[in-house]
Amino acid sequence: MLGNGDAQLYHNSLRFYGIIKESENTMFTINRKNNIEYLTIPSFEQSGLVRHAFSTRIGGVSTGETATMNFGFERKDTPENIKRNFELLCGCVGINPDKLVMAKQVHGDIVLAADKTDAGRRLEGVDAFVTDDPDIAICTFHADCVPLFFLDTKKRVIALAHSGWRGTAANIAGKTVGKMIADYGCDPHNIIAALGPSIGVCHFEVGQEVADVFDTKYVIQGEKPRIDLWALCKDQVLACGVTESNFTLSGICTFCRKDLFYSYRGDNMKTGSMVSIMQLNA
Ligand SMILES: [Zn+2]
Repeated sequence: MLGNGDAQLYHNSLRFYGIIKESENTMFTINRKNNIEYLTIPSFEQSGLVRHAFSTRIGGVSTGETATMNFGFERKDTPENIKRNFELLCGCVGINPDKLVMAKQVHGDIVLAADKTDAGRRLEGVDAFVTDDPDIAICTFHADCVPLFFLDTKKRVIALAHSGWRGTAANIAGKTVGKMIADYGCDPHNIIAALGPSIGVCHFEVGQEVADVFDTKYVIQGEKPRIDLWALCKDQVLACGVTESNFTLSGICTFCRKDLFYSYRGDNMKTGSMVSIMQLNA
């Protein structure tokens, strides 16, 4: 269980080690409702324009290696448990689970414009959604891979992206913001963005062949190279014109906090999956 002070301590240690800068807006909020723990982003909350959450593993009905709040259909869990977990989390946030549009992710760079005709569907081959439709809730799945949240507070357009190392190498973050601008007329200066719990540079060790895919400024050489996906995703978002003060970094590593989050690497692949969910208020 993570107390609010706990998250602050973690952020302070990241500041101490220089992984995040003093000036950065770092805090996600930890919420607890009906024994369910989930995170929200203060800037998104304060906008009054959306309901949203990033789940934890606390408070659901799953058992065994996916205990307790798994959302991953490909994990060792039953469809009944997953359905119940969606009802529980959506109940906390005020989202109708029948309105969810879910990504069946492939570590690609396809960003889909979703609308009410997609409600209740799971869309294959998609790693990011954009929508301006308040009748649907968009949903992506994560268990180390970077979750990204976007909201244009003037145009009322939302987006979610799943950015693992392949997606990050393919700049799915930039492509998501690019679609908000190109297809929805968003102005990047009006977009607030956030990067949720995922594997940090403290733990994301890769082989040299993976490290070679990335600009050396995002690779820390050691016994094994480590990649800073957070810094790269953030730079990709800022390169689209989103301002730094509108970017919130959770600063929470899923591997470090296996007690609170599923970590594909931290749990040796025997794990469940979290979700990002978000819906525009009508
Ligand atoms: Zn870590």
